[in-house]
Amino acid sequence: MNKKIILMHIGIIIVIGLLIFLKFPCPFKCFVGYPCPACGTLHALNALLNLDFKSYCEYNWMAIPLVTGVWMGIHKNCIFNKSRIVDFLLITIPTMLIFKYILDIYLTFLCV
Ligand SMILES: [Zn+2]
Repeated sequence: MNKKIILMHIGIIIVIGLLIFLKFPCPFKCFVGYPCPACGTLHALNALLNLDFKSYCEYNWMAIPLVTGVWMGIHKNCIFNKSRIVDFLLITIPTMLIFKYILDIYLTFLCV
C-alpha cells in the first residue's frame, strides 16, 4: 500500500479520535439550533468504545451504519471494486438516516 495513503488514514483516525476525545459539538446544531441527521455520531462512537450500548442507542443508533457507509463510499473504487452491494448500501443508509431524522424531529418537537 502507498505510504501516502497510510499516513492519510492515520491522520484521519487521529482527527476523529481528537473530535471524540474533545467531545466536539455539532457545528450545524450550534448555528441552527436543531440537530442534524448525523448528530450524536461521535458521542455514540465514544459510548461504543466504552461498551456502553444504551448510550450508543440514545446518542445515535445509526452511527455504525453511517460510518460504515461513508467508509465504503470512500473506498468503493479501490477495495470493493465498484460493487453493487456498496451502491445499494449508499442508497439505503442515507434513506434510513433521513427517515430516522424525520422521526426524531417529529417525536422531539412536534409530538410534545
Ligand atoms: Zn449534528
